[in-house]
This record gives sequence, structure tokens and C-alpha cells, in this order.
Amino acid sequence: MEYILETNNIEKKYGHFKALNNLNMHIPKGAIYGLIGKNGAGKTTLIRLICGLQKVTSGEYTIFGISNNSRRIVETRKRVGGMVETPSICTDMTAEDNLKEQYKIIGLPSYDNLQEILKLVRLNNTGKKKAKHFSLGMKQRLGLAIALVGNPDLLILDEPINGLDPEGIIEIRELILKLNKEKGITFLISSHYLDELSKIATFYGIIDKGKIIKEIDKNELEQNFRKRTQITVTNIKECVKYLEEKELAYKVISDDTLDIYEKINVSELVIALSKRNCIVNNFQEKGESLENYYLNLIGGADND
Ligand code: ATP
Repeated sequence: MEYILETNNIEKKYGHFKALNNLNMHIPKGAIYGLIGKNGAGKTTLIRLICGLQKVTSGEYTIFGISNNSRRIVETRKRVGGMVETPSICTDMTAEDNLKEQYKIIGLPSYDNLQEILKLVRLNNTGKKKAKHFSLGMKQRLGLAIALVGNPDLLILDEPINGLDPEGIIEIRELILKLNKEKGITFLISSHYLDELSKIATFYGIIDKGKIIKEIDKNELEQNFRKRTQITVTNIKECVKYLEEKELAYKVISDDTLDIYEKINVSELVIALSKRNCIVNNFQEKGESLENYYLNLIGGADND
């Protein structure tokens, strides 16, 4: 697999405190990588390092295959756009002037694509309106527009939907999906909104106490999300025979337990099985959310 970003045991110390501790992460090309972790886990620190706003204490990382220790890293970072914490907006300026400022900051010779970017984030009709009069959603979209200047291949967004109303959340979601699909931009997104993140992320990294404790592909994770009915029976052989006959998807878990992956009428199943000398002792609807999966991994919410 081709990785846009790879870290190798990176460490970041503040005094004696290790905010990042031998952290290893891998962002596949074209992914929307959801970075999940509780407050203080190290998400912002990690993002600030990758964006070049801070330096690692030890360890190494590569962006597009270029090491942070290489002289070429400065040039390579031009392929990375970021919106870290609050968007870097000049509130006394219009959307267009904010973008022009960014073109100057990154040293682009002309305002190529400026109107296209404004249109993309639907701020092309804001005219002389200054950013201070924008809604939170508009400000967030302007932040994204600024991050898009220079046509980045990797976009890093720290909590991009914080404080947004449902409409604003949907707009940002659709924008991210569009940029990923149409422009092939890889995303690193940190968010506390796991339900929302699960609507867009294709890959997840779970960070806890400065370490990535799990990286998992969306498809692998969805196996855990799959809704299923778990039943415990007295005669598993007969039960399997019945499910085979009915062509229902199932998985045997133990000598007396199996998961059925399709919608079933439990009473009908109980009656049908009882005719075959198989008693259903227990049944449970199962299926995890990203939140459950995450909480199980970090050992519940109170693992401090
Ligand atoms: P949140 O979700 O609350 O934003 P986070 O996962 O982004 O949290 P970080 O902001 O990266 O976490 O902080 C990681 C740890 O490093 C925290 O314990 C924090 O207090 C500490 N920390 C962050 N910045 C500094 C700093 N400049 N000096 C000292 N400690 C810091």
C-alpha cells in the first residue's frame, strides 16, 4: 500500500511530559483517515508536527516519502493544506481577500483557481461581506478554502465540525467527500463526533496517551458494525442445518452459540427449531457503533 504519511516512533516532549510516545501511523493514499482520541490524547500535537508548526523530539516521519529530516521537506509541505484548531481567517477581510492573502503567504505568483476555490466552498457570492459577519459554517468553509490554496494533495483538518449546526455539518461532510472523490485529496481528520466521522472515514487511527493503539480499515471495522442476532441453542448441528436450508448467512461462535446476519423472525425460528429438538435458550440483537468499538479499545471512558 502507498502511504502519504508514515511516522516511525515519533516522540514529542513538553519538558518531561511525553505528549507523543513512540507513535506510529500510516495514512494510505486517497484515504479519509479519521483520527480518534479523547481530550489530551495527543491529536493536536500530532497534527501540529505534521503541519510543520512544531518539531519532533525524536523519531522520524515521511510525507509523500520525504523525511522530516530532509531539506526537501519544506518544498514537500506545500502539498499539504491544514486547518488546525480555529481557521486562520482575517475577520476584517472578505472571503476573496482572505484567499489572496494565503496566495501571498505561500508565495504563489498568481491568483490561479481562486474563483474556483470560492465556488467550491460556496462563498463565491459573498461579495464585500467581511468574514466577521459570516456564520460559523461559512467561516469554517472559508478555513477550508484557505487550506485548499496551492492545490494540496493532503488536507489536515483538526475538529472541522466543532460548533457547527446540522446544516453546517452536512456541508462540510459533502465538501470533504467531493474533494476526496473528484480531486483525489487524502484527508487526515480529527474529530470527537464519531458518528459523523463514521459517515466519511475510510480508515481510522485510534490514539491514546500519545500512541496510536489501533489502525483499522473501514471494511474491517464494518464487520464489527454488522447487525446480527446472536442465539444460544441446545443443538447447534440442527440449527446450522436449518439455516443452511433457509440460505441464511450465519457464523458459528461456539458449541452452542451462533450469529445470524440477516433479518429473522425470532418466534418463527424458535418454533421451527423446537420441531427439530433444538431449544433456543437465548437471543440478542448485536452490532457495534464506532463509539462502542473505540470505547472497548481504550478500555472504557475512565481508563485514566
Ligand atoms: P483535545 O481533544 O482536548 O484537543 P488532543 O488530543 O488534541 O486533545 P493535545 O492538545 O495534543 O491533545 O495535548 C496532548 C497533551 O500534551 C495534553 O496532556 C496537553 O496538556 C499537553 N500539551 C499540549 N501542548 C502543550 C504545551 N505547549 N506545553 C505543555 N503541554 C502541552
